[in-house]
Amino acid sequence: MQTFQPPRRVLMGPGPSDVSPRVLAALARPTIGHLDPAFQSLMEEIKGALQRLFNAPDHACVPLPAPGTAGMEAAMMNLLEPGDRAVVAINGVFGGRMADMAGRAGATVVTVEHEWGQPVDPARVEAALAEAPTKLLAFVHAETSTGVRSDAATLCGLARKHRALSVVDCVTSLGGIAVDAAAWGADVIYSGTQKCLSAPPGLSPIALSKAAQAAIAGRKEKVRNWLLDFNLLMAYWGGPEGSGGGGRTYHHTAPVNALYGLHESLVVLFEEGVQAATVRHARMHEALAAGIEAAGLKFLVEPKWRLPMLNTVIVPDGVDEAAVRAHVLKAWDLELGAGLGPLKGKVWRIGLMGESATPWHVRLCLTALCDALN
Ligand code: PLP
Repeated sequence: MQTFQPPRRVLMGPGPSDVSPRVLAALARPTIGHLDPAFQSLMEEIKGALQRLFNAPDHACVPLPAPGTAGMEAAMMNLLEPGDRAVVAINGVFGGRMADMAGRAGATVVTVEHEWGQPVDPARVEAALAEAPTKLLAFVHAETSTGVRSDAATLCGLARKHRALSVVDCVTSLGGIAVDAAAWGADVIYSGTQKCLSAPPGLSPIALSKAAQAAIAGRKEKVRNWLLDFNLLMAYWGGPEGSGGGGRTYHHTAPVNALYGLHESLVVLFEEGVQAATVRHARMHEALAAGIEAAGLKFLVEPKWRLPMLNTVIVPDGVDEAAVRAHVLKAWDLELGAGLGPLKGKVWRIGLMGESATPWHVRLCLTALCDALN
């Protein structure tokens, strides 16, 4: 074997995004023990920073030791028991994944399916909630497979009105558009590190409201997934922020260096300001959209629901979608994303996430795309 040297790439697909040199440097710092007092202080700081980032001062926040899918799995496995009713809105790949997981947790799953490219329709969700008592409503805030935002505040409000817990997937939205667990009244909200936080993939920050924690405490049977059992996890993470992290109980060995990386990505984000970062994402999207439209290309999603960090551009008739991506990778070292499911071969997905949302990235992408198309 030889040392692996990755090629130099610019990451403008659906994630991972470019990782900042500061985060890469943090990852390379010496590993210390996960029960070392210095590491425990880092864990406490991360819990508090996540509360700030999700705006979830009354939620318990931890980064799960696995990618964004782990946040989804933790939500479903902790909240649902066999026989519970779950309403899941599907408007792309990740809503579908939520429904699959809710079924695996033993719930009776009612899906509210939408055309890909459309936001979740609150009226149809409300009709599904009104049919029978429901334990949980799940939806994706920023559907990465289509580039669509849904109205999280309204959907969480509907869950509350019908006495259901809300589960919100913010894997792509956190750090790029406004995410506000407190204002929305979201019960479980989770993300991933590899999108607008610009850390490597592998961790899933999650926040649980008091109501979600009470539902878990009141379960009839144990959580069927051991690693993601929130009771065990919180004992390891030393209780909610402010509890001082005392009485920490061994559960698993935390991914020490990955947590250095997450910590540094949060330092970088707070230095810029979360609000300033969302403005930057919006501006970069506007610049990209101006160039895309000037090149005669069209977006899949209407402006109101477009995600700034995930731009879904329709492949013109007669153009080979994969050949364009292959060209920009080979000639420009630039990674763009392909369409998934019904959008396969029909769209490109252009990410402007975190460190990849800069004027330089916008210029490079437009230049490379026009080069490939001409
Ligand atoms: N949810 C959404 C909206 C995503 O975009 C992704 C990943 O792209 C996931 C969940 C799953 O995250 P991961 O691939 O990190 O497991």
